[in-house]
Amino acid sequence: MITLYLGVSLVAAAVVLFIMQPVVKGIHASLEREDDELTETEARKRVALLALRDVEYDFLAGKLDEEDYRSLKADLTAEALAALEADEAAKAGLGAEAGDAALEAEIAMIRSGLREGVACPDCAYTNVSGSRFCSACGQALGELAAS
Ligand SMILES: [Zn+2]
Repeated sequence: MITLYLGVSLVAAAVVLFIMQPVVKGIHASLEREDDELTETEARKRVALLALRDVEYDFLAGKLDEEDYRSLKADLTAEALAALEADEAAKAGLGAEAGDAALEAEIAMIRSGLREGVACPDCAYTNVSGSRFCSACGQALGELAAS
């Protein structure tokens, strides 16, 4: 079930990448633009980040129960981090020029959020910034916990 959803979600994210391009706003906007020289690692990174966002949307829309949400979020966070690091390693290997400083800054911010995120008050697990529930124990985080 979860594996199936992951596959569907990744495909859906790739489709959304092209269809929703003029519509989607916000933090990932610059990750979704056309790029004539999109590398394999860049593509993987974008898909992973979009899938992570889709999980949030699906959870908010009630398409995911809490257990699936936490499981998917943990899996996709790991994938997104791995993809970011693979992309950086690939660029370092190619000796790519600094190029798009704004995009690099945004990626650094996303990566920081993925890594530093929100510490669970219950078990101290570090969740992705903006997480509503702890990926490790299910404790409500942030604003939801206060409400
Ligand atoms: Zn926790």
